[in-house]
Amino acid sequence: MNPTYAKMGTTIFEKMSAIARETGAINLGQGFPEHPGPSEILNAAARALTERSNQYPPMAGLPELRRAVADHYRRHQGLDLTPDEVIVTSGATEAIAATLLALISTGDEVVLIQPLYDAYLPLVERAGGIARLVTLEPPHWRITAEVIEQAITPKTRLLLLNSPLNPAGTIASAEELAIIADACIRHDLIAVCDEVWEHVIFDDSRHIPLISLPGMRERTVKIGSAGKIFSVTGWKVGWMCAAPPLAMALARAHQFLTFTTPPNLQWAVAEGLAKDDSWFAAMRADYQRSRNLLSAGLSAAGYAMLPSAATWFISADLTASGIALDDVTFCERIVREAGVVAIPVSSFYAEQQVRTIVRFCFCKSDATLDAGIERLARFRETLSG
Ligand code: GLN
Repeated sequence: MNPTYAKMGTTIFEKMSAIARETGAINLGQGFPEHPGPSEILNAAARALTERSNQYPPMAGLPELRRAVADHYRRHQGLDLTPDEVIVTSGATEAIAATLLALISTGDEVVLIQPLYDAYLPLVERAGGIARLVTLEPPHWRITAEVIEQAITPKTRLLLLNSPLNPAGTIASAEELAIIADACIRHDLIAVCDEVWEHVIFDDSRHIPLISLPGMRERTVKIGSAGKIFSVTGWKVGWMCAAPPLAMALARAHQFLTFTTPPNLQWAVAEGLAKDDSWFAAMRADYQRSRNLLSAGLSAAGYAMLPSAATWFISADLTASGIALDDVTFCERIVREAGVVAIPVSSFYAEQQVRTIVRFCFCKSDATLDAGIERLARFRETLSG
């Protein structure tokens, strides 16, 4: 076996969902909505399945979806992408894999910012790259010029940015984006932007894509996900956007990974992306209400909750809650003693540098959230202090 896979276990999300299935615990771990998904999008996919072709679509994606992505980003983010600059993938994880495989040569260094999504590090290694880790700390998880600069060497080729950031629920500020753009331009780096949470943002906050900053248009790969935008995580429809020379390299990697993505799902996503602004506003309002419900409930139960400006996640700070357990122990105990699954945030750090933060997923029904809150409140009472 390749050493990268030999040394790793199963992804934390799969592991925790398996525990939830086995034990019947309430699953506030892996990020997926409990509701079935927007019926008009599901119906569009069902219609396309019977009324349209089910043979290979073009390798880079249905032209209609590539155009829909470009139009969508023009309308929502003021970008000037052409359909040729959009490549449809089987989920954002495939887009990240294709990008890293296409752009890394053996020995190239890649700046990764942790907390990091658990796929990044093994994908960089498997592509022959060397990760240079930048560590962000709770509660602000702020990116500074110093930490970015320290991670860059003459061998650095790429920087991977996840904004909005899972699990922190933060959105990179204009100042942080300027720091990153400046570093990319001065050191001639390509930025790989995992923006799957771009639409799941709250409280009138704004997501600014790095590709829109001066000097970044030609050196950024922007990655998006229909699973997150339309609450259908099992669909695995994503895309990567980049200027033509980069897009061509990405397409070459993509053609021998998955080659194409189910065409009926691509049709449905193309329809969905054209929805009115009010559709996206309603989606956000819905998740924001769920966030508020879980945040208020767990706060009242004695957990110190960190702010969440985006994503489907909100975290509790165990130390600030007066709980003297590390995150892994806490998560093990709440499964057994409370029947609730959560995610220890240390699993988003290569060396578990941060061990006192626990991530809860709030894209669930009120009944599920209420039951989770009640169980965690009872558990909190059993702990002294
Ligand atoms: N993005 C999801 C999360 O953070 C997990 C996705 C997966 O399990 N592959 O929970």
